Amino acid sequence: MNLTFKLKNYKSALSFARRLLELGPLADMTQQIRKLLQVCGENPVDEHTMEYNDHAPILICAKSYELIYKGNPEIKCPFCGASYMPQFSGILCTVCTVAEVGNDAKGLRISPFQFPKSNILFHLQLVRN
Ligand SMILES: [Zn+2]
Repeated sequence: MNLTFKLKNYKSALSFARRLLELGPLADMTQQIRKLLQVCGENPVDEHTMEYNDHAPILICAKSYELIYKGNPEIKCPFCGASYMPQFSGILCTVCTVAEVGNDAKGLRISPFQFPKSNILFHLQLVRN
């Protein structure tokens, strides 16, 4: 909100300010937002064009920080679920640094057949007590 205001993108600043007000900010911040709404409301025009659609749900690419609009192709980190643009397939996730982006990872699977029968009975006894 403040950055768009400093860039004289008053229309965008208005939109961000309204959304911020809906979140119920603290009193001093509410006062600042209302001042900004008043100033921007007098001239609701953007001086610079931005690649941002106010009404579409978005994700942010964890590598390039570009917007990924809903419905556009995206890939995810199988470990933490961070979103990436398709060209970053195969890189190490920049968020968790654990998994390869776009790879399928089934994770750890535990089956009762992996353990000897006596361990399962011991576990069941613990659960009952
Ligand atoms: Zn990750």
